[in-house]
Amino acid sequence: MTAYDIGALKAALGTIKVEDHPTLVKQKSRDFFWYSPQLKRELDHVTGDLVVSPKSEAEIVEVLRACYRLGIPVTPRGSGTGNYGQAMPLAGGVVLSLAEMNAVKEIAPGRLVAEPGAILQKIDRQAKAHSGQELRVFPSTYGTATIGGFIAGGSGGVGSINWGGLRDIGNVIRLRVVTMEAEPRVVDLAGWELARVTHAYGTNGIITEVEVPLTAAYDWVDVVVGLDDFLAAARYGDELGNQDGILTKLITPIAAPVPYDYFLRYRKFFRREQSAVLVMVAPHAMSAFEAFNQKARGTILYRSDTADDATKAGLPPVYELAWNHTTLRALRIDPTITYLQVLYPFPDQLEKVKLVTEAFGDEVPGHLEYVRFDGKVTCFGLPLLRYTTQERLDEIMRIHEDLGCPIFNPHRYTLEEGGMKQTDRAQLDFKRQTDPRGLLNPGKMVAWENPDFDFSTGKTYLFRGLQPADS
Ligand SMILES: Cc1cc2nc3c(=O)[nH]c(=O)nc-3n(C[C@H](O)[C@H](O)[C@H](O)COP(=O)(O)OP(=O)(O)OC[C@H]3O[C@@H](n4cnc5c(N)ncnc54)[C@H](O)[C@@H]3O)c2cc1C
Repeated sequence: MTAYDIGALKAALGTIKVEDHPTLVKQKSRDFFWYSPQLKRELDHVTGDLVVSPKSEAEIVEVLRACYRLGIPVTPRGSGTGNYGQAMPLAGGVVLSLAEMNAVKEIAPGRLVAEPGAILQKIDRQAKAHSGQELRVFPSTYGTATIGGFIAGGSGGVGSINWGGLRDIGNVIRLRVVTMEAEPRVVDLAGWELARVTHAYGTNGIITEVEVPLTAAYDWVDVVVGLDDFLAAARYGDELGNQDGILTKLITPIAAPVPYDYFLRYRKFFRREQSAVLVMVAPHAMSAFEAFNQKARGTILYRSDTADDATKAGLPPVYELAWNHTTLRALRIDPTITYLQVLYPFPDQLEKVKLVTEAFGDEVPGHLEYVRFDGKVTCFGLPLLRYTTQERLDEIMRIHEDLGCPIFNPHRYTLEEGGMKQTDRAQLDFKRQTDPRGLLNPGKMVAWENPDFDFSTGKTYLFRGLQPADS
């Protein structure tokens, strides 16, 4: 394990806030990687050496200048809610917490400028109060995640049914990043350049300012619909997603018995054999939605606009039953549960869902999220998985791929294995310019660490610089 001169770094940082208590540093070195039994085995011991919490872009420049000179890796951290060890310092060093940089700097018609550590829900509260606007898309960790962490590590979420994901041009307007060089530079990115840094896990620049688009805000109505089986729920979601006149923000079909078994506060609405569709509907669209629902033969089990206070008491918002909160609620009850990330490509999404459901049944309970993807309405999956062995997990992922359902593997910590299983040229080239010593979040970009790695072998990449478990 490389020994870094942390003493010299602390001296160089002067009054910039640091934390070196080993227990606190370890806490800030972890995210929700433990959703994956594989990552849990590989990363449970990982810790940084020092947490540094800058209050300004100028302080970030000082931190990166000192770390570059001393050869100390820097791993940025928003709120640490990522699921694949993205914010975990595999080679130790500095955990750079952006939590103190959390101001909303500007709100204007259709756009907002904020510091990276701003919490998404707090941003929305300010935008709504200011001008009745809200963010287009947010992760179900809305209440805790930061906007910088979402852009650098997330992909999409609530609102993606209307706007697609963070990869889609227009969903981020501008980013400002600081580079890891002898003399760090401040670089503004816009347009296609944004793809160099969005979903790059902070491997090629520290985001210090974000500018994102806003849309009209509504007091969204939470609706829970019951259906006899999962394939009926999938069809319902598909038809609803294609209703051009009905404004929704979330459409989430989930297979029985997941709602009854794991959504404890909502259990009172469900029969165990009932599948569900979770929906967020704009208040002005409720009458059209009712008409749609009648024709689609759904049973409205709950709606937040007409339920009395006693019924609503203690119920979390439906988005906190969706996306990766579904997995969290299941894990709280059954620690052997894990999950997958799957795309069911348009135009055969329903046929693919049927094939997969028939192939695995209750071993892989279905969970779909309807989104716009490349301009089409289709569905991603975050199916739960009743974990037995690593071999069976790998086999289930292989069968999905063989059935034409690409897997974005959540059981790996690298960009490529968790994504398209190929080098992202734009991100690699930008890293060569902005982080020539490879000190930003080491081990997360295979193309940097091992340019000759062959993804087609299906072998798992293991970062040579990963701290040994006994260090
Ligand atoms: C229950 C649950 C539900 C979730 N639901 C969703 C969902 O719906 N959609 C979704 O996309 N994700 C989801 N996630 C994953 C995660 O919550 C989101 O991606 C979230 O936006 C991450 O924000 P964060 O502030 O916690 O980032 P962190 O986890 O702290 O960081 C994420 C990545 O960004 C990097 N980073 C952070 N800040 C910066 C910066 N300023 N500059 C450069 N790099 C930076 C980190 O190094 C890391 O690689 C979920 C996770 C959980 C546990």
